[in-house]
Amino acid sequence: MGFIGKRYYDYNSFIKSHFGERVQKISLDVGFSCPNRDGSKGFGGCTYCNNNTFNPEYCKPRKSIRWQLEQGMQFFAKRGKNNKYLAYFQAYTNTYSDSESLKELYLEALRVPNVVGLVIGTRPDCISDEIIDFLELLSKKYFISLDFGVESTNEATLLTVNRCHTYSDTVNAYQKCMNKGFHLGAHIIIGLPGETREEGLLHAIELSKLPINTLKIHHLQIVKNSVMAVQYKRNPEIFNLFALEEYVDFITDFIGYLRHDISIERFISEAPKDLLIAPKWGGVRKQEILDKIDKMLIKKNSWQGKFYIQNLESSGREILH
Ligand code: SF4
Repeated sequence: MGFIGKRYYDYNSFIKSHFGERVQKISLDVGFSCPNRDGSKGFGGCTYCNNNTFNPEYCKPRKSIRWQLEQGMQFFAKRGKNNKYLAYFQAYTNTYSDSESLKELYLEALRVPNVVGLVIGTRPDCISDEIIDFLELLSKKYFISLDFGVESTNEATLLTVNRCHTYSDTVNAYQKCMNKGFHLGAHIIIGLPGETREEGLLHAIELSKLPINTLKIHHLQIVKNSVMAVQYKRNPEIFNLFALEEYVDFITDFIGYLRHDISIERFISEAPKDLLIAPKWGGVRKQEILDKIDKMLIKKNSWQGKFYIQNLESSGREILH
């Protein structure tokens, strides 16, 4: 596959080729909870989680979906020309309710003019057959993306961070959802406690085996009001947080192991300054980081999929040696 102007398949290129123009996502918070917070799977949530880190100002769960989308459209209209929007069900677990309520919420978003699709973020252990069938139906008319928080492909890490689901759950969820006509996304966090650089690269190999179309990569950030904030204060030595240059070096290797047809939507986390505890990269802008990644890929003469091996049955560990 040829990448347009990049050595990796960036999400903007995917969106432009799919829609023929720029399409803006608008984040929504419809007041869902999360089974890892309300006790049905666990209490206290994943140790890195503070949901306030990903809610923009216009997201107010007590406001209607239409209101939030219209506020989002006004906000983005000031920044540039957008004619089409995707309603992004982002905060907490956006398939965690009864099926009828979920269907009504998704349809409410799709009834707002200029909304051309949905992006739904959820956990891999929280998707019903009924909702999969409904999304399959919607995807005949709209762009639908179901994004699972994978976070790690390592079972031990998922336990450590109190994720309350397994990597097997993740694999099963993708198997159920594949070939249904909707897009499949994944989130991964790089640098969770206990994971070495090699473990991080193994994620690229394991993720490449899943039927995913899009990947969001986040470097671990410790944020206020998370369990990790307390752990970090007490035992900073259990964390191996990335310095910026180290991360650029790592991520350019990671890209090499990633299947070439997975579009990459992000490379970093961007917690609000007032919530971020560590690592602090001196206010460097996202675009500067992307430029560094581009330059490093050129320097290494690498590109997405350079080291990808198709039909790899093994864990992939041996190919890192
Ligand atoms: S990261 Fe997601 S699954 Fe984990 S506690 Fe937060 S909202 Fe729940």
